[in-house]
Amino acid sequence: MPMPDSGPDTLGHRLSIPAKACRLMRCRCPACWRGEMFEHPLRMRPQCPLCAYRFDRGNGYFVGAMYASYALSLGLGIAVAIAAWLASASVGVTVSVACAAVGLVGPLAIFPISRAVWVWVEREGWLHDGEEDREVLLRNHRRR
Ligand SMILES: [Zn+2]
Repeated sequence: MPMPDSGPDTLGHRLSIPAKACRLMRCRCPACWRGEMFEHPLRMRPQCPLCAYRFDRGNGYFVGAMYASYALSLGLGIAVAIAAWLASASVGVTVSVACAAVGLVGPLAIFPISRAVWVWVEREGWLHDGEEDREVLLRNHRRR
């Protein structure tokens, strides 16, 4: 179930899954698919500059992005290991290059993408039905 402040979603209906994946790799807003989620690789905007979709939902929201980061890091390590293996590198060099890629290049490249993937997954409501969000919104409203 989309969030109440999900913003315009006209482009999202026209994009194919590969097109959405390409936009997620470029850290575009999963609500309008145009706005940039990051000012630079380590600084995320609080909301989309184009549609005002809120990216950060509070403390602990991005803990789930670690799952996306783990999967992306694993894919990067496997891809680099296969490339090194195809280049006829020894096992030691293959493992070293794969670990270096995941440990050194991975965090800067994967951190923003994993957050973009997490915001997209949350927005699509695949992990819950939005009931928790409604409860949090009601609880925060009562405190005011
Ligand atoms: Zn947007």
